[in-house]
Amino acid sequence: MLESKRESRTAISSLGEFKLIDHLTKQIVLQKKGTIKGVGDDCAVIENRSSEILITTDLLIEGVHFDLSYIPLKHLGYKAVMVNLSDIYAMNGTANQITVSIALSNRFTLEAVEELYEGIHLACKNYNVDLIGGDTTSSTKGMLISITAIGEVKKKDVVYRSGAKAGDLLVVSGDLGAAYLGLQVLEREKQVFQVNPNAQPELNNYSYLVERQLKPEARKDIVEMLSEMEVLPTSMIDISDGLSSEILHLCKQSKLGCNLHEDKIPLDQQVISTCEEFNMNSTTVALSGGEDYELLFTIAQSDFPKIKGNPNLSVIGYMTEESEGIHLITRANQKIELIAQGWNALEKE
Ligand code: ADP
Ligand code: MG
Repeated sequence: MLESKRESRTAISSLGEFKLIDHLTKQIVLQKKGTIKGVGDDCAVIENRSSEILITTDLLIEGVHFDLSYIPLKHLGYKAVMVNLSDIYAMNGTANQITVSIALSNRFTLEAVEELYEGIHLACKNYNVDLIGGDTTSSTKGMLISITAIGEVKKKDVVYRSGAKAGDLLVVSGDLGAAYLGLQVLEREKQVFQVNPNAQPELNNYSYLVERQLKPEARKDIVEMLSEMEVLPTSMIDISDGLSSEILHLCKQSKLGCNLHEDKIPLDQQVISTCEEFNMNSTTVALSGGEDYELLFTIAQSDFPKIKGNPNLSVIGYMTEESEGIHLITRANQKIELIAQGWNALEKE
């Protein structure tokens, strides 16, 4: 994971906005041919090529989307970038640039913002994306981060949520549910810590879960792999809210039904053992957990031989006519209507 710890505390007011921006952006080395002008003018300038341009934006608010008592700032910066890049990859695109806007209350020191930017810069480096601008302002309470990602995709390769056909296979990358359980583990540790501030966190058995919560990776590799395998998904979405709600989106936009097979949902061993320990149902966690940032897509059956046996991909179901409805086929071979359960539905269990 990303290490972080700093001792000195420099008030942001001692620099002022322009010096702060300069400080946060001076290390940027632009990597993309298409970035003509980055930070430093009234606008960034990017080349307009023959491909389609993809734009996506997200706003993260302290206390609503993140809690700084669990997530180190460096991880937050990294994750904030991942959330956006994931949306670009979900269109089957390549991410090229991001802008980052932040609002900070006076509780944040320069060192704190530096940590946030370490995570942002690392994400840009790992994913070959340029940070080309943003905005910096103050907030009366807490931190806000808004990131916009810009990407591109060839016209013939763009994948929408709406392109699935009846009979297509439903495929997911990676495994599901770990990020949600990681959050449960971190919350539990926070409560232990509040009772006994000398308690040492016991996270060894949950390392994968915590990593998935604190340092998610957007699936650029899957988009590249599909392209190499010459598989063009018929529809695609990234899993930010949980498998069931994303399946419902694909079905609704493609005007289809779906059968999802419970026994095919990919789960890591730590997810299975932690669900047992926490007395949770692992299928419910995968369906409703969220924040996995895996890709969920459909492919024509004729493409099945190309993905068969691929350890990164699981076929979890297939699309049907809309009139057949959207169902989970359980291990006991029962057919249950799939509903969008959010975060809150899980809390009540
Ligand atoms: P303006 O007054 O024209 O909005 P700013 O002083 O806000 O200009 O920004 C100056 C430059 O610094 C611009 O290129 C802008 O995109 C960039 N910038 C501002 N804030 C950030 C930030 N938080 N991260 C990255 N770049 C930033
Ligand atoms: Mg500005």
